[in-house]
Amino acid sequence: MTENTTTRLIQSVVDHLVETDTDALNGWGENRNQLIQVGGDMLKGVDKVISGDLRIIKDDGTVGTYPAFRVQHNNACGYYKGGIRFSTGVNQAEVTTLSMLMTLKNALHHLPYGGGKGGVHIDVRKHSKRELRDVSQAYVRLLKNDIGPYLDIPAPDVGSGEEVMDWMTNEYKALHPNEPFINTFTGKSIANGGAKGRSESTGIGTFTSYLYLLDILTNDKIEVNEAHQSVKESVKAIGKKDEPVKLAIQGFGNLSQASALAAYNCEVPHKIVAISDSRSTLYSENGLDPEVLVPFKQKHDRLPNESELKELGIEATVEDPKAVLTVDCDVLLLGAIENQITKDNQADIKATILVEGANGPIDRDADDYLESQGKVIIPDVLANAGGVTVSYFEWRQGNTNEDKSKEEILNDMNQRMKDVSHEVFSAYFTSEHGESMRFLCFKLAFIRIIDVMKRTGKLI
Ligand code: NAD
Repeated sequence: MTENTTTRLIQSVVDHLVETDTDALNGWGENRNQLIQVGGDMLKGVDKVISGDLRIIKDDGTVGTYPAFRVQHNNACGYYKGGIRFSTGVNQAEVTTLSMLMTLKNALHHLPYGGGKGGVHIDVRKHSKRELRDVSQAYVRLLKNDIGPYLDIPAPDVGSGEEVMDWMTNEYKALHPNEPFINTFTGKSIANGGAKGRSESTGIGTFTSYLYLLDILTNDKIEVNEAHQSVKESVKAIGKKDEPVKLAIQGFGNLSQASALAAYNCEVPHKIVAISDSRSTLYSENGLDPEVLVPFKQKHDRLPNESELKELGIEATVEDPKAVLTVDCDVLLLGAIENQITKDNQADIKATILVEGANGPIDRDADDYLESQGKVIIPDVLANAGGVTVSYFEWRQGNTNEDKSKEEILNDMNQRMKDVSHEVFSAYFTSEHGESMRFLCFKLAFIRIIDVMKRTGKLI
């Protein structure tokens, strides 16, 4: 989703609240509409941008220079919180959009945080470990006075991970002697104060959100109005059929591997008919076994080719990476990168339910088109919050010294994912105006944020 798409969606929430939904925030008195407009304008801007070039001496003795950013979008609901991306796609606009999404995601999920995001423009594959450590430390020096356990709490994102968080924690500690430091970053290694289950939390939470939808529609556990009956029936048909749910998964990294394992071991039978990564799609009508494919991918950083599939005893065809999107399936879990479904391939999507594990995999036009075709899209801002939820547990654990087991942490995260999903699904299946689930997520989050802004005197 681009910055413009995000700000446009915020504006449409404002317009909707002013023109259509006069029940919301109706205790605000006669200047209600003006306050809503001002709240929207505030959320379309950011609180602070910190940027600079990180410079390190590389292994070959030359100087490497990397543009770096941290955007603090809004802290009405709590400390700024959001990941740090190491990628060549990083620029200020991308980081800004992602910081806005974090504010909305954290508010939607009732987490005590605002939104922020960071990024370094770097190709991690072209750097040694020592170079990446030096870049990580330089990034912390850039942000020295702008991050902290009660100010702005970064976490890993694409291209960074627990090792980077451990390096950054150590640099922050060195720069701030005699001050609290352990909660400045989440997503650290368990030995360094990280929470158990953090690495699989996003993929499991994404699957949980979808499975909850399947459950409540199949088993009539939620009110559904006339306008949404046909969608309900098509989802129910998937849940009620005698054969396993057919699932296709795009991407096979941290998120998708955990989702694939959750699906494979789920008590509701699932058959994973396709899995892809940036190089290929594996397709099998009889289903793929992630318990074999995950270790292979982790060892080789790619999916097996035809002869390796034979050696592994897997019957599957190898197709091009995009094939996963259009295979015959009930559910498509998008767990790779942004802008994968566009007007070029929207008409070829066979899945009834699309789940956004990745941020922004469906572009705005395709989003509208797929909704109009009766597909259900569980949006990123709802589906992929398992990671930030467990980051919150990690931060809480750092404050209290509690030591929860992985099972307790993942159960707690799954329950929260179901609770928030229930709120969103209830709003969606009873909505009268044909709003998308994404729009309703933005609306619920927006109301929560501007309500706090008003209570705390930021809107008056
Ligand atoms: P990752 O780097 O571990 O995995 C990404 C996977 O996508 C890899 O298997 C890669 O081969 C594949 N891929 C890349 N380009 C592709 C393409 N064109 N077609 C098919 N596959 C492709 O990343 P991740 O942590 O799994 O994150 C995936 C997405 O989920 C990102 O959009 C990220 O922002 C989002 N996300 C992740 C987390 C998390 O905790 N991991 C949290 C929130 C959101």
